[in-house]
Order: sequence, then C-alpha cells, then structure tokens
Amino acid sequence: MKIYNTLTRRKEEFRPIKEGEAGIYTCGPTVYNYAHIGNMRTFITEDLQVRALRFLGWKVRRVMNITDVGHLVSDADTGEDKMEQGARREGKSAWDIARFYTDAFFKDFKALNCADPDVVCKATDYIKEMIDLGLTLEKKGYTYVIPGDGVYFDTARFPDYGKLAGKRHIEGIQEGARIEANEGKRNPTDFAVWKFSAPGGKRQMEWDSPWGKGFPGWHMECSAMAMKHLGETIDMHWGGEDHVAIHHTNEIAQSEAATGKPFANYWLHARFLVTGDTGKMSKSSGEFLTTGLLIKKGYDPLAYRYYCLLTHYRKQLEFTWEGLDAAARGLERLREAARRLAAGEGDTMPEQGGIVRSRCRELCDRPHGVPSSPAAKYLADFKAALEDDLNIPQALACAWEAARNEALPAGERLAFLKEADKVLGLDLFAAPKAEADLEPELMALVEARAAARKAKDFKRSDELRAELAAKGVLVEDTSGGQKWKRKAG
Ligand code: AMP
Ligand code: ZN
Repeated sequence: MKIYNTLTRRKEEFRPIKEGEAGIYTCGPTVYNYAHIGNMRTFITEDLQVRALRFLGWKVRRVMNITDVGHLVSDADTGEDKMEQGARREGKSAWDIARFYTDAFFKDFKALNCADPDVVCKATDYIKEMIDLGLTLEKKGYTYVIPGDGVYFDTARFPDYGKLAGKRHIEGIQEGARIEANEGKRNPTDFAVWKFSAPGGKRQMEWDSPWGKGFPGWHMECSAMAMKHLGETIDMHWGGEDHVAIHHTNEIAQSEAATGKPFANYWLHARFLVTGDTGKMSKSSGEFLTTGLLIKKGYDPLAYRYYCLLTHYRKQLEFTWEGLDAAARGLERLREAARRLAAGEGDTMPEQGGIVRSRCRELCDRPHGVPSSPAAKYLADFKAALEDDLNIPQALACAWEAARNEALPAGERLAFLKEADKVLGLDLFAAPKAEADLEPELMALVEARAAARKAKDFKRSDELRAELAAKGVLVEDTSGGQKWKRKAG
C-alpha cells in the first residue's frame, strides 16, 4: 500500500516494522463537548484505512486515546483546561463531563460504522506513564521548571524540532507566539510536560508528581500511550491536519528525545471539513454540526459517511446541506441496486462474454495482473484504488460500476459489492429506512395526505403538503407512491 507521509511529503510504499502487521495510533477526541462532523471526517478516514489494510490482508492493531485531561484552551499551554471549562459550562464535575461525552462520542462513532479500535485508552488512566516519560526527559536534560507554572520541554535542545511541519512553519509560530508568549518559556515553541495546580486553588483533576501537584501537558498522553501499546517506534500515526504543527510536532520531540528512536515511521493527516459560512468547523467556536443533529433531521448517518467517501482525505471537504442531500440520494440508489441484486433481480440483460472497459479500470493507473473473471477485475481495481494512498472515491467508483454493469452476471456483482462494503462500511444491504421513524403526529399527517390523494381530493392533499412542509417534512409523489423526507437545514 502506498501512503502519503507528511514527514517526507511524498507518497511512499508502506513498509511495516513487523512483516504483515500494522500498528496504528490515532489521536482521539477531547471529550469536553460533542464531536462535530469535522472530527468525524477524520475518524471515518482512519476507519477506512484500518478496514482497507485488513481487507488487503494486514494484521492491524489500532490504538485510540480519549483526551480527558490537560488539553488547554490555548495552544500556548495557557488558559483553562477544556475539561474544566466543560464542567463549568454545564455545572457538572469534570469527571462526569468526560464520561458523558465519551459515551456520546462512541454513539456517533458506531452510527457512522467506524469499527471499534483494538485499544481505547483514557489519558487519566496513564498518569504514571506520563510522569515516567517526564522523568526520563528531565534526566536527559530536556526539561526546565517555570516556578508556579509547570515543567517545560526545551524545544531548542531537540535539533529536528520542525521536521514534521517544516522549518518555515515553526518560525511562523515563533513569530506569532511572541505576542502572547508565556513569559517564563525559553522558546515560544516550548510546551508543558507537567502543569502545576494553581497555588491555593484545587483542580478537579490533579495528581501528585515529583515536581508538585498538577496534571500532565496534553501532548504527553499520546506519546506515553502509543509507546505503551505499540512500542517505542510505531508504524503509522494519524490525526487531523491541525495536529501537524503543534500536537504531533511535540509528540515527536518528546518521544524521540526520550528514546533516541523514530517515534512513528508514517505520519498521516486528514484535511479539514469546512463550512462555507464560518470556514473551519471547530468545537471551541461555539456552533458546530454533530452526527446527532443530522440524525435528528432525519438523515441516515451513513449518508454523511458516503459524503466523506466522495472526496479524497487529503483534499479539504466543504460541507453543504445540498451536498448531504445528494449523498443521501446516492447512497440510497447504490443500496437499491445492491438490494435488487441480493433479491436476484439483477440479471436484466443476457450474459455476455466480456464487458466494456469500466470507468474504474480507466481511473486506475496501476497495472494489475490478468484477472480470471470480470468481477475479479473489479476486485483488482478496487484493491489498487485502496493501495493508492487510500483512494476511496476511486474504490467507490468501482462499486458503482459493478452495481450498474448489467452485462455481468448478478451473482458476481453481488459478491463483489459484499466485499467492497467490508471497506466502504455503507451497509449496502440494509433494509430501506422504516417510515415509522417519523413522529406519530407527523406520520398521521403523511398518511392523511396519501389518503386524500387517493380519493383525488387534491385541495386537501395540497393543504396537508403545506402543513407538513411547515413542520419540516417534504412529501413528493413518485411512481412508487408518496415519499417523505425531512427538510434539510
Ligand atoms: P479533538 O477532539 O479536537 O482533539 O479532535 C479530534 C480529531 O478531529 C483530531 O484528529 C483533529 O485533528 C480532528 N479535527 C478537528 N477539527 C476537524 C475538522 N474541521 N475536520 C476534520 N478533522 C478535524
Ligand atoms: Zn494525540
């Protein structure tokens, strides 16, 4: 499999540490609020990578952390802990906030068909490992103490500090940081290994340490947990693009300073989901869209997964409601084709010896052996797409080709779609959405309109259509009868 490595800025053949195995660390959510659908784009991408590797025969171990302490409001290691901010906002304890939003996160994660990671680890369960890492760094002379503030990593002592983000980028941070720089820091890019609880003030989450009572710096958790579960050097490390300049750069510095070995061989980053109105979607900027909100509006959460599948993970994805509507329709059409094949209704044309060159074949730029049957050719093309830096849009095009190509025997198309869905995770063979998903009073109006139309009382049926529209439900008349859907936006 070829993957784009942010560290070398090029596509590289993935060479594992252990033959046939892939150890993957993916930075998890900060559980002080719901995850927004931007976060979920990154988690869906990581899920696709794990599924693709397994599909291609790799043994994968995926570790994901839950940030439930230490992620401060400001990247400069100042300001409130986001967990304590969440606790204050909702009048609950920081521990309750962490529990609540961790559960909420996994609900969304599952709704979007993301497979469970092999290991899920909470930062608050690894305080000892983080302190040990801090002690190693201290012993090697990488840290210094700012009295009343914390223990800091001296980035000037790590010569390759800018290697992930690029030196110019780091210089930019240094320039920008000067304005709000923490006075005691030796360099603007230095970051906290351990933060002290404010003198006299008790934090909800705090622990004893050799340096004093306090809590770990945010970046420490990922280094400590990744090394604990995957070893001192890991195969792949994933996150969203925002992590390149600070979080992952700091993870590299502290891990490599401590062990003297490369921390991760491949660094992978998903570009952001953005919205037209506000640009970047972020938890801290207040308004954001959640998976739960999409479900409340009547969308199948997998319509959002399908939406993500249409754009390569290294391209920015702009979210629009029209786009989501189109994705929902696309997914439904693909499922319809899959269902018809499963019901044995796919052979609408007589079998032919060969098939026309498929679009996905054209899209694939890699030669792949001579497949034994037309369906095997689809599978080869599908695999080639996955192997080409996780080209999911191309893999999806293969699924569409197979669904549409009536010149192929239905059994072969069906078998291929079942295989493809193991990676795409779209529940292609799911039953159509039950109408009972609408609230009973709205369902009664939908039924009344169908009855009025049947009785040719068009005045009444138009009135009911308008009433439903005002209540957020759109009805349309199709050859298969009346259909309803919730209004977007
Ligand atoms: P957080 O909960 O903020 O720690 O972020 C969880 C994951 O979502 C990280 O990998 C982030 O890099 C990623 N992320 C944050 N915002 C976005 C966005 N707008 N689009 C895609 N990924 C994002
Ligand atoms: Zn991380």
